[in-house]
Amino acid sequence: MKILIIGGVAAGTKTAAKLKRADRSANVTVLTKGKDISYAGCGLPYYVGGLIEERGELIVNTPQKFAALTGVNVVTGVEVTGVNSTAKTVSVKNMDTGEISSYDYDKLVVATGASAILPNIEGAGLSGVFKVRTPNDAIAIRDYVLGRQVKRAVVVGGGFIGLEMAENLREQGVSVTVIDAAAQILPDILDPELASYVKRHLAEKGIRVLTSTRAVHLEGESEVSGVQTDSALLPCGLVVMAVGIRPNTAFLQDSGIELDQGKIVIDRMLRTNVEDIYAVGDCAVVTNRLTGDRQWSPMGSSANLEGRTLAQILTGSKKAYPGVLGTGIVKLPGLNCGRTGLCEDQAKAAGYDVITALAVTDDKAHYYPDASFFITKLIADKTTHKLLGAQVLGTGNVDKMIDIAVTGLNMGAALEDFENADYAYAPPFSTAIHPFVQAVYVLLNKINGDLVSMTPREYREGKADDYTVIDVNPVPTVRGARHVELTAVNGPIEGIAKDEKLLLVCKRGKRAYFLQNRLKYYGYENTVVLEGATTVNDVRVKNRSAAVPPEEVTRVKALGFLWDKNSADRFNGRVITRNGKITAEESTVIAEAARRYGSGEITMTSRLTLEIQGVPFDNIEPLREFLAQAGLETGGTGSKVRPVVSCKGTTCQYGLIDTFALSEEIHERFFKGYSNVKLPHKFKIAVGGCPNNCVKPDLNDLGIIGP
Ligand SMILES: Cc1cc2nc3c(=O)[nH]c(=O)nc-3n(C[C@H](O)[C@H](O)[C@H](O)COP(=O)(O)OP(=O)(O)OC[C@H]3O[C@@H](n4cnc5c(N)ncnc54)[C@H](O)[C@@H]3O)c2cc1C
Repeated sequence: MKILIIGGVAAGTKTAAKLKRADRSANVTVLTKGKDISYAGCGLPYYVGGLIEERGELIVNTPQKFAALTGVNVVTGVEVTGVNSTAKTVSVKNMDTGEISSYDYDKLVVATGASAILPNIEGAGLSGVFKVRTPNDAIAIRDYVLGRQVKRAVVVGGGFIGLEMAENLREQGVSVTVIDAAAQILPDILDPELASYVKRHLAEKGIRVLTSTRAVHLEGESEVSGVQTDSALLPCGLVVMAVGIRPNTAFLQDSGIELDQGKIVIDRMLRTNVEDIYAVGDCAVVTNRLTGDRQWSPMGSSANLEGRTLAQILTGSKKAYPGVLGTGIVKLPGLNCGRTGLCEDQAKAAGYDVITALAVTDDKAHYYPDASFFITKLIADKTTHKLLGAQVLGTGNVDKMIDIAVTGLNMGAALEDFENADYAYAPPFSTAIHPFVQAVYVLLNKINGDLVSMTPREYREGKADDYTVIDVNPVPTVRGARHVELTAVNGPIEGIAKDEKLLLVCKRGKRAYFLQNRLKYYGYENTVVLEGATTVNDVRVKNRSAAVPPEEVTRVKALGFLWDKNSADRFNGRVITRNGKITAEESTVIAEAARRYGSGEITMTSRLTLEIQGVPFDNIEPLREFLAQAGLETGGTGSKVRPVVSCKGTTCQYGLIDTFALSEEIHERFFKGYSNVKLPHKFKIAVGGCPNNCVKPDLNDLGIIGP
């Protein structure tokens, strides 16, 4: 039997190798466009970051090695340009010579994958604008970053690949901004409350994320110098386009093969609608294993599984491909993030009676040295108790949590199936009751009414607006909330009526649940536990006169907000400028920010930051978010490197040199580069364009004066 496979990376080579193992007599030929086969697409970001040092490490197999190992004929550097299903031939163009030839087949497998989309916007062709799909893309990006000493990059697209690229560019010392047109990062991958958590986390790690922000065009002469978004110009020396992929199926337009928005439609036997033609991998659309609906799951894992199953089918096994759960996982700086199955809204759209729970648990015995947390969201059907999906964040082995869920989902498990599962436990690995099982308990408690709770989504929608917030933390943490010491509750609480609506909040949710349990016993019927507690939710109490706790004053000081000691909760927030230089658009944004979030007044500081006055504590985050959309940030206070100042150089009668370029360089290297380093004292740098000391370099810790 002559089997022709088009495409020689994950799906194509997997099908070919397994075919030959199952039937050594099969005549299997792989035709592929590039010179490489079987490369590690998933490893490309780590090549950019330098973790994978050599190009060779990305190549799983050379054509020669693969052919020798498997017995498959490999033809590289050829593009299939058409399929004639009547004659059972494909036409092929040699990529080097342009020569046209044809190959015949008994069975044809299309495994042509997908290509990264380069959006059709002005400037997309500038040098310094990259996509990430092949080893050559990754090599070109790393060479560009190192060769030009790129300092700022914009990644367009906040999906898995965009975020992996952001992390790895940052590893190369590049300051990265990720923009995404959607209202959240990882859309259709994570539910919004978890996506918000990830966004906040990335900001803390120095990766700025702007959602609801679209790239309008790219600026630059021959090399890219900035991304104009719908709200600001983001200066940068490199742009990575990670906005999605398009299946490589244009050559099938006239083949009679059914396509759905370019993706090849296949059945459970991986057959197209045309006899003896099959498809696997990123070029094909499969089904969702839970709903049976069509689902495109362009993942290396699915590509390999489909390839293996197809080889079994083609060699006579009674196999079928059951579809995908859309499982995925990504490593971010200091946080791993995984998901499988249906998101909450996807489950609702599929007609399930959806119930969810969000649990924050230990990831291993709390006393073990590197113990950390898991934030687990489970999605299930309230009627059947069937598990429908899971999303997990954590610093550790998120994959084991997701893989438990995958196993359960594949077996159609109900929540009760996990209830007494004795998963592996010893302190370095897990908790005595496994964290996944603990999350299941939270959901079961919610279903049977033992726990009455509010989800982060409901909280955001304002469902707790008429509730009194009770802080159940061991020490008061929620500003303006009434603090209740859990262990002291041995009867009704003074000053709280039994019918009062109470929102119980702690750090993770557990103490709040314990308090609810006690309060129920003492006759309180209107208590609600906030799921995810303060770990996931930004809990606000409408009590403006409440003092801001000292640790919060310290935290926001590091963000550039200084407490006005004449007030309970007003702060002055410093907006960083480039040595006092801002564009007209930026000044409009700062003025608007002062109007919306502060008192309307702006002052200038000696370090050339613009200080927005009278910002209520609760407005700090919204203000920062508003400024970030315009590419502006706050900072420049506390025991850290302060923004660099310089004189206006040649505009002054004594000025000898324009100091802007030098001070910007220093600002990037030191202010940005050391922005997270806490010092014993503030460290100030100034640059003067003449020896007259007009910006007082002498008074700074590091002073640079002109010639
Ligand atoms: C940066 C990055 C990170 C990723 N990370 C992960 C991850 O962590 N986990 C995961 O599961 N997946 C990941 N993926 C996805 C994974 O790499 C893909 O799902 C997988 O490569 C798909 O394999 P494929 O064989 O279907 O297609 P491809 O890998 O696209 O291979 C198809 C091949 O067919 C060739 N071809 C196309 N048209 C023709 C034609 N007409 N004639 C001849 N040859 C043709 C192409 O040139 C290509 O070489 C990542 C992808 C990228 C780009």
